[in-house]
Amino acid sequence: MKLFEAALSHCHKAAELINLNDDYLAILSEPQNEIIVNFPVRMDDGVLKVFTGYRIQHNNILGPYKGGLRFHPAVDLDEVKALAAWMTFKSALVGIPFGGAKGGVTINPADYSSEEMRRIVRRFTHALSYNIGPDHDIPAPDVGTNSQTMDWIMDTYANTNAPSARQSVKGIVTGKSVECGGSKSREAATGQGVLYNLRHWCGQHGVALDTLSIGIQGMGNVGGHFARLAYDEGCKIIIAGDHHGTIKNLNGLPIPELLEWIKKHGSIEGFAEAGIANTENAKTELVEDEALFTTPMDVFVPAALENQITIERAKKMHCRLIIEAANGPTTPEADRYFNDQGVEIIPDILANSGGVIVSYFEWLQNRSAHYWSNDDIQEKLRDLLWSAYDEVLLSRNRLKCTNREAAYAVALERLREVYDRRGIFP
Ligand code: NAD
Repeated sequence: MKLFEAALSHCHKAAELINLNDDYLAILSEPQNEIIVNFPVRMDDGVLKVFTGYRIQHNNILGPYKGGLRFHPAVDLDEVKALAAWMTFKSALVGIPFGGAKGGVTINPADYSSEEMRRIVRRFTHALSYNIGPDHDIPAPDVGTNSQTMDWIMDTYANTNAPSARQSVKGIVTGKSVECGGSKSREAATGQGVLYNLRHWCGQHGVALDTLSIGIQGMGNVGGHFARLAYDEGCKIIIAGDHHGTIKNLNGLPIPELLEWIKKHGSIEGFAEAGIANTENAKTELVEDEALFTTPMDVFVPAALENQITIERAKKMHCRLIIEAANGPTTPEADRYFNDQGVEIIPDILANSGGVIVSYFEWLQNRSAHYWSNDDIQEKLRDLLWSAYDEVLLSRNRLKCTNREAAYAVALERLREVYDRRGIFP
């Protein structure tokens, strides 16, 4: 099944549960705009390369299009369409005034120098031109992009599409560095939001957070920040993997040392061999990647890419809870299996919504030129997330369905209310 089809399958199930009118479902089943750009960039050695970039604008009935930019070799139209649709449902679920979009370039950033990346990002921004804007479509970081990417986009846009002195032009992207108008707490926001979800789940089930054993796939922005925050709360991260390998320590991985290593070396590779351990008698060992799916643990946190939890892997897993920090990590077949087995899932559109929530806060701060404190942001983030979580639980009880279906149902009900009032143009 294609990823966009899989993304829509959840939406269609929830639409049935709430008797969504067929017209609205038809609109939500296609992106509004599919923009593909091919743009040339000169490499350091003088060779010219043409890159393909995408920006998919799925829906904007609730506000400007909003969603990340992914730089990865597997980026294609189908993937970006699915990621854009998830953004529409995520923004609607958490009640922020944004629509859904996503973009990307089919590229492995590790293959290019920093100067080449700067030229690629600037040229891509220029190619998108008036298709993005602070009141129209607002990109953010995703896999393979970061605050440096966002700073370059903001600077390019400011110099080409608008009087660069205008304060609100900074809102063209979120996830910028704090120095360039980014929000405090944005970089860690997605991981922080995953932890707030976990805390709420613990409260609901009467489980102490610091008794949990956790496995994490993906130690980048989302997985890395989540690991640090969960470790600080006393959780044991017993296994962690990235695209270079997987390491395990049943006494708990030494997360501060591991994150320091990843920052320095770019991945987990070499960490186990370096012999860094947090207890005398339990060394961190290098294990095969499949151990992520066969090691018993309380909570599994996929924080890498989509379609990682296939039905074959699901059948080997032993955990109580899966928190989908990544977008679309569970295939629909595996999702049904977990449901039958009573394994609870906090679905992606809720679990990783901390990123877009703090992006919204960044956009508001850029518009007003008034910057908020960390405490303010954390309090507002927690409130929005926990109220969305509670609405999902209410909807689950009312509709007698899974967390995922309930999350989509809340999102679709919000979208339906606005379509009902505005009508379908003209
Ligand atoms: P990132 O590029 O910072 O990190 C990705 C991590 O996944 C890296 O550790 C990488 O090594 C690992 N990885 C990649 N392929 C893998 C594989 N096949 N097996 C194991 N590990 C693999 O990306 P990120 O921003 O942390 O995004 C991770 C996920 O979270 C994505 O699904 C993204 O869409 C989602 N997400 C990100 C944000 C955000 O704010 N960055 C917000 C919401 C959702």
